[in-house]
Amino acid sequence: SPLLSVRGVHKTYVAAKRSKVVALEDVDLDVGEGEIVALIGPSGCGKSTLLRMMAGLDTDFEGDLSWSVPPRPGKDIGFVFQEPALLPWRTVRRNVSLGLEAQRDTSEQGREQVTTLLDLVGLTDFADSFPKELSGGMRQRTAIARALAYNPRILLMDEPFGALDAITRDRLHDDLLRIWETTHKTIVLVTHSVEEATYLADRVAVMSARPGRIKAVHTVPLSRE
Ligand code: ADP
Ligand code: ADP
Repeated sequence: SPLLSVRGVHKTYVAAKRSKVVALEDVDLDVGEGEIVALIGPSGCGKSTLLRMMAGLDTDFEGDLSWSVPPRPGKDIGFVFQEPALLPWRTVRRNVSLGLEAQRDTSEQGREQVTTLLDLVGLTDFADSFPKELSGGMRQRTAIARALAYNPRILLMDEPFGALDAITRDRLHDDLLRIWETTHKTIVLVTHSVEEATYLADRVAVMSARPGRIKAVHTVPLSRE
């Protein structure tokens, strides 16, 4: 069975003056273990809403969202936002270990995990640098390492490369594929870019707006493996 299964999901926001916005209607989607799935569609089609539901950040909806193994809160779901939101007073290493520290995990294993992740995202030489000393691409790679710190079952990414210039973005695409080749992490990626979706994903869910729906799910030919 798929890692995550979304069935018949409806989401209505109640906005100003009690006007209602149907953000998602009749959404079905499966996400298999180890798959990279892209959600693509115009602004307002409900991509972020769907991703927040997957993250457990929004539980106010109709329909079912079920996991093959229930995620452990704060551990099994990694999230990467468009803005890396690193703590400026912490070094790269201490930004990556933030979650582990919050859970009072000071184990040797936890420290080794951080070292392995820094290597994975190519930031070993910058472990003791501060965010302001890094390029935009390096900051986002720090955020990706931080999201992977608990070895989550799934990595949810909301336009993670949207704020980067084209050359850095291309490099990060290849970095993400390299991370995938090492970890085989299940990834759901929200993007505006068809090029990005087809380059990175195994399957692309194409959404349309008003109301937000999944129009089609395409399997990307000649994908990895
Ligand atoms: P996308 O990520 O595809 O741009 P969103 O999930 O952000 O789409 O939004 C889907 C729809 O829900 C849009 O019409 C948006 O205006 C509306 N929406 C999102 N968040 C809220 C909110 N907190 N209150 C009211 N409407 C919202
Ligand atoms: P990224 O791929 O992370 O965006 P850049 O294109 O900005 O990296 O930088 C290319 C290379 O320049 C980096 O891999 C790194 O070796 C070096 N570099 C970037 N920023 C710094 C910095 N603040 N201090 C030292 N070297 C840097």
